[in-house]
Amino acid sequence: MEIPVVKKIAAAEEAAWVNPGLRPYGEVSLEVTMEDIEDAEDRLARFAPFIVKCFPETADRGGLIESSLTPVPKMQAYLDKAYGSGIRGRLMVKQDSHLAIAGSVKARGGIYEVLKHTEDLALEAGLITIGDDYSVLASEACRKFFRQYTIQVGSTGNLGLSIGIASAAVGYEVIVHMSADARQWKKDMLRSHGVKVVEYASDYSEAVKNGRRESDADPKSYFIDDENSKNLFMGYAVAAKRLRSQLEELDVKVDEAHPLFVYIPCGVGGAPGGVTFGLKELWGDNVHCFFVEPVQAPCMLLGMATGLHNDISVQDVGLTGLTHADGLAVGRPSGFVGKVMEPLLSGEFTLKDKWLYEYMRNLLETEDIFLEPSACAAFDGPARLLKYEETRAYIREHGLEDKMKDAVHIAWATGGRLVPEDVREEYKKTCLD
Ligand SMILES: *Cc1c(COP(=O)(O)O)cnc(C)c1O
Repeated sequence: MEIPVVKKIAAAEEAAWVNPGLRPYGEVSLEVTMEDIEDAEDRLARFAPFIVKCFPETADRGGLIESSLTPVPKMQAYLDKAYGSGIRGRLMVKQDSHLAIAGSVKARGGIYEVLKHTEDLALEAGLITIGDDYSVLASEACRKFFRQYTIQVGSTGNLGLSIGIASAAVGYEVIVHMSADARQWKKDMLRSHGVKVVEYASDYSEAVKNGRRESDADPKSYFIDDENSKNLFMGYAVAAKRLRSQLEELDVKVDEAHPLFVYIPCGVGGAPGGVTFGLKELWGDNVHCFFVEPVQAPCMLLGMATGLHNDISVQDVGLTGLTHADGLAVGRPSGFVGKVMEPLLSGEFTLKDKWLYEYMRNLLETEDIFLEPSACAAFDGPARLLKYEETRAYIREHGLEDKMKDAVHIAWATGGRLVPEDVREEYKKTCLD
């Protein structure tokens, strides 16, 4: 391969990559639209009474599954002191790590798709009409109806948790196909919700392939397809408008003079891609979205830099795909998401696993916020945006140098709340070379 960044990532070196395909937002035309996001928002609003009934923990947000946006000035100062980040403006954390029900960003896409399927089945069977109070779907009669159906999904862990818990609440039979990277506690937690967990010795793509095949063989089974699903993507995209309200509450402006930088850990691409699409719809060229991936599993970067998307895997360039970031342990990206991201994504960072644990301890010590290792990848963005020549050039070329003092940086914290106490203790002690 002659693309320089591909050489670097094939050697498992840490890298920053700026997307040469990024276009002014006004010139971009996409297969997904703001109407798709609004359709998802409306559906989630219809389900809010049902969500409150099944998950009382969501009552104070009226059945909306939403997380806080938290300024983290002490972490910001620490990144500057310990790593010389040089970041000015304000650093914040979007705490999807603490989302209700699933404790990860998957509570957006995963639960949304389960509800979408539930609505489709319920409307078809005449259990509800669009204007009804959907809390009737939590009745014993409805649960009995849903019990005839199965939902299946392939997962490295968190998607399985989100879909497993939500589907079990509706009443479905659930089968989660888990890759070898999935952590034991995630499998145990799912089984405790009555979910059937099928374990594979192979990686994520293999788990998805098997799950898809088994589900397709059963007419009453629905497969949630993380590699291709537009529904999942829209569930994630809903985050954007809610973030806008939260920024307004904090009196933070995003416009030409006040750029917004967002850093999101990336696995197959659905979660960071959906969030990015929503943010670009709202703020266009004033928001700059970067994904972060482990050096052994930079599948989205590889797919985008080569233009091959899901036709190339990290194993094809000699990487293992193995990482402590279980949520990011994906060897082949979503082709659907990669293509949508082509004109939207600003760039990517890759990092070694050891930083996951360092950033985890840094955040815990400075701000008393716990995240799981995968989520901590987000901090590589603010830590190193100004360290790499590639991203410094991006800032210069976009005329942002003078605006950086008024910028907002959001590290998208994608998971952590459900990590059991003993596992947390183990993570806190983990030091890698
Ligand atoms: C799934 C996940 C991601 C990435 O989402 P994808 O849709 O796989 O790209 C990031 N962080 C955590 C904690 C996750 O569980």
